[in-house]
Amino acid sequence: MNIKNLIREEVLNQEAYSAPEISCPIKLDANESPYDLSPSLKSKIFEGIKKVQMNRYPEPGSPELRAGFSKLYGVTSDMLLVGNGSDELIQILLIAVKRQASSIMIPTPTFAIYKISALNNGHKVIEVPLDKQFDLDVDSMLEIMAVKSPNLIFLSYPNNPTGNCFDSSKIEAILKETDGIVVVDEAYFYFSGKTFLSYLDKYENLVILRTLSKVGLAAMRIGILIGSPPLVHELNKVRLPYNLNALSQITARLYIENEAEFQKQADTVVSRRDELFTELKKIDGIHLYPSDANFILFSCSFDTDSVYYSLIEKGILIKKFDTLGILENCMRVTTGTREENGEFLEALRTIIFGEELKAK
Ligand code: PMP
Repeated sequence: MNIKNLIREEVLNQEAYSAPEISCPIKLDANESPYDLSPSLKSKIFEGIKKVQMNRYPEPGSPELRAGFSKLYGVTSDMLLVGNGSDELIQILLIAVKRQASSIMIPTPTFAIYKISALNNGHKVIEVPLDKQFDLDVDSMLEIMAVKSPNLIFLSYPNNPTGNCFDSSKIEAILKETDGIVVVDEAYFYFSGKTFLSYLDKYENLVILRTLSKVGLAAMRIGILIGSPPLVHELNKVRLPYNLNALSQITARLYIENEAEFQKQADTVVSRRDELFTELKKIDGIHLYPSDANFILFSCSFDTDSVYYSLIEKGILIKKFDTLGILENCMRVTTGTREENGEFLEALRTIIFGEELKAK
């Protein structure tokens, strides 16, 4: 029997999303927070777990959580959907919208899951390269939209991996012109402070995504979708019944009660990022891109593979891009603690100046 005969072609043609299985003591590759939850908040989660009746399903649809998030975001509960990470919410959107000749539009480079999940769900993806400043090529996007009418447009704001927020007037031009849904993915909002929440009143086709993964809760897989009630109503039909487990629900409640504390930690990450940026700037042969997020993209006039693997030998994992084009010779480093950033900088200087790397 050939199992492959049973699998859809879109799936056969894909690579699985792979996070590198390299274990390094200093992990600066996945845009996580470098700070674990404080012991007092952790023990509150354990207390909550003690009270859970394990034989029962968790609350379906997370009504209590949606009420909490509705207060935080100033929207009604029927505008909210909570998911097993925002990855799940991206997938729910992609399951729900119609497939057609060219149904999904994304700028590139951007967060890899938009394309992977779109292809898995039988969509055709239109990719529009960002301009030289890593901003949206809005003229090309509007032209393509006029001909192909994509049903769903994903915009990461700030964009992963470039780190910048796109010009908001360009996003608004897209919102105005399209008949499709525009997803503004605010995974890195806590570091940029910039949001499209206030545009929800004006545009029924706007969807905002948030996640708690970047503020210290990546292990708990909690994502939030905010959109118009008629859209959320349809998306709820696609959502699996108990998509948020009891542990994640308890954690999300704790987040809602202590949001200020999480934001304070994100502010610290921003300070560490700015320090890291200043120090990286002093290294010859490295070109930095400004960041509104918790990571920094940089290109390098050295052999990036050598830099990457030499860093791993020194126990430091960052992200490298193997693609040609706009991300050629680029690497992305997530902001760590002050100590981690210091070790990364020292290792990088040693690799570049001590080991005489090949210039590209
Ligand atoms: N959106 C963007 C732009 C991201 O960078 C990420 C994580 N790398 C996600 C969504 C996924 O977040 P989650 O952990 O909530 O699935």
